[in-house]
This record gives sequence, structure tokens and C-alpha cells, in this order.
Amino acid sequence: MTRPFNFSAGPANLPEEVLQQAAGEMLDWHGSGMSVMEMSHRGKEFISIYEAAEADFRELMAIPSNFKILFMQGGGLAENAIVPLNLSRGRSADFVVTGSWSDKSQKEARKYCDVRIAASNADNGHTLLPSPSSWALRQDAAYVHLCTNETINGVEFQSLPDLKALGSDAPLVIDFSSHVASRPVDWSRVGLAFGGAQKNLGPAGVTLVVIREDLLGHALPICPSAFDYKTVADNQSMYNTPPTYAIYIAGLTFQWLKRQKEGDASGIAAMEKRNLAKAEMLYKAIDASQFYLNKIGKDCRSRMNVPFFLRDESRNEAFLAGARSRGLLQLKGHKSVGGMRASIYNAMPMAGVQALVAYMREFEQKHA
Ligand SMILES: *Cc1c(COP(=O)(O)O)cnc(C)c1O
Repeated sequence: MTRPFNFSAGPANLPEEVLQQAAGEMLDWHGSGMSVMEMSHRGKEFISIYEAAEADFRELMAIPSNFKILFMQGGGLAENAIVPLNLSRGRSADFVVTGSWSDKSQKEARKYCDVRIAASNADNGHTLLPSPSSWALRQDAAYVHLCTNETINGVEFQSLPDLKALGSDAPLVIDFSSHVASRPVDWSRVGLAFGGAQKNLGPAGVTLVVIREDLLGHALPICPSAFDYKTVADNQSMYNTPPTYAIYIAGLTFQWLKRQKEGDASGIAAMEKRNLAKAEMLYKAIDASQFYLNKIGKDCRSRMNVPFFLRDESRNEAFLAGARSRGLLQLKGHKSVGGMRASIYNAMPMAGVQALVAYMREFEQKHA
């Protein structure tokens, strides 16, 4: 059976091998007589799953030893509160607003600290990224927040800013929910990274947080204990019951990622090669056509989330229905942007993008 290609922005498609392995292990994990869902999080079976997941993620993402990896709950939106609760120390924070998600982040942080907007691309409809040299960063900021891939708007930072070179000593906080593990991260420029698993790593329910150790232990007194990064770190993410099944599936995805190869590259480097090729194929098809349109500046187009429009929007419903009938699912754009959006995360094979591009050509020939 071949499954349809699923372009959902999240929760999103998972590698078929991961789903099959999980199905095979559903009733009896490795002869334990238990499903992973039924295990104590403190038992040796789950501890081995947890330790492998953490070690594999550290290896894959080349995370230095002075960073802790936390498996939390609450998703990216909870982190919008948890970050200022832990990092603001009664001071202010600088936000770079580049789309819907960073805008949500700055609004939530206002409950806990003094927020200032260092830069915004609202005036160009979130289609271009403000150059770091233009950001108004402040000496007294406790941290600088950036969403490195705006899932809804389709803009992505192609490199991380060097805050030190911009005259700021503040740690950089990145929301990498929707492009984690799609490309390498320069950890020398990052203080904290967070992301929900449901875009590129696994099912909804687990949130990955990677935090530099010197940022632990500064939570505001009102910070809930379960959300105090130091408490979570000191308890190996088991201060309270962690989302065990979601961690297990993310762990299987990490192993799948480690197995991926493209030429000489493996792991994340292989994913980056494949993701570049996929994105290039789709953007080329859109740009070459008079029928479709992508409005994002060429130097900041997301490799993961590709919003596009039919120039004649009266054909939207017909486009989506035809796509569904060919097994191309969940292409409708976010309601705040409209049009279409193809999310082409790690688990989307090249064949999926080829099928989409072939369908787009066919639809255009029929209707142009
Ligand atoms: C999906 C997403 C979020 C929100 O994640 P939740 O798990 O729904 O809280 C936050 N930031 C970005 C960039 C996202 O793509």
C-alpha cells in the first residue's frame, strides 16, 4: 500500500519506517510484554528509551556538552511563557518580529517582562527578513528572541545572527519548532532553542528545549516548578511524568535521521541536502509559472513551509479537491495568509514534491 503524501504544517507526516516500527512494537516492546505507553517512566525499559533518545538527539544536532536537553510539555506556546519566566530575571527582553509565531511570543512575554521590539517586518507583510545590522538591540536585555522559521508566513533565517558582533551580550533564544533537524545549528550563537516535536520530530506532546547551562537557575519566584528549567534539568526531565510515548516516537525518528544518507553526507547534513533539493524544485516550479505565486523574498524563503497562491483564487477549491484525489493532502494555506501551503519537512520524500509539482503543472495546463 502506498500512502498519500501529507503536506500538513503540523502535526505533520512521520517517516513511514518509524510508523511501521512503532506498529510492530505496539503490543510488546522488545520482549517486555508491555507497550511503551504502559511502562513506568522510572523503569529500566523506559529509562533506556529516554537515554537513547537524548544521546541520539545530542549526536545528530552536534549539541555541545555545556547544553542540557530537556523534554518538556506544553508546546511552543507554553515556551513563550516559560522562557521569560526563566530568563527575564526582572529585566527586559528584545524581540525580532518576523511573522505570526514571533508576534505571539512577544505578546505572551509581556505578561512576565518588559518587551521591546528590536525589529519587525510587519510593514512588508512578513515577506522579507530585517537584516540583523538594523536591529535595535539594548544593552540591558536579558535575552533576544527570534523565530528562525516562521511556519505560517514561510520566511526562514538562513543563518543565525552573531549577537556579540552586533554589540549585545544577551543570549539568543530561538524558536526552531518547524525546522529543527532540517539543517545544522550553530550552537556558538545560541543560548536556548525550543521546539514542539510535531513538525519535524515526532507526535505532538513533547517539546524539545536545548539550554546553555549558565542560563539555568534564574527562574522568577512565580515560575511553576514543572516549568523551571533547572528543576527539569536536575530531574532528567522526570520531575513529573514526561510524555513517554511521544519521546519514544521522537527517539525512533532520531534513529531514522541517523540512518539517512545523501552522497557523502549523513544525518542532519543529508537532510539539509535533501531539503534544499526539495525546496528548490518546488520554488522553481512556482517561479516558472504565470499561474502560481510565492510572495517571499528569495533570500529568506523557508525550506520547510512553502506558502503559494493561485493567481486566480476562484480556482482554490478545485485545486485542493484535485490534489486530494491524487493523494496530495492538507495543502490549504493557513487562514491568516490564505492560498496554499506545502509543508515539506524531513519526512516528506522527494517523490512527494515531484508528485505535487506534476499535479500543479497538470492543473495549470487544464485551467490556464
Ligand atoms: C507550531 C509552532 C508553535 C506552536 O506550537 P504548539 O505546540 O502548538 O504550542 C510555535 N512556534 C512555531 C514556529 C511553530 O511552528
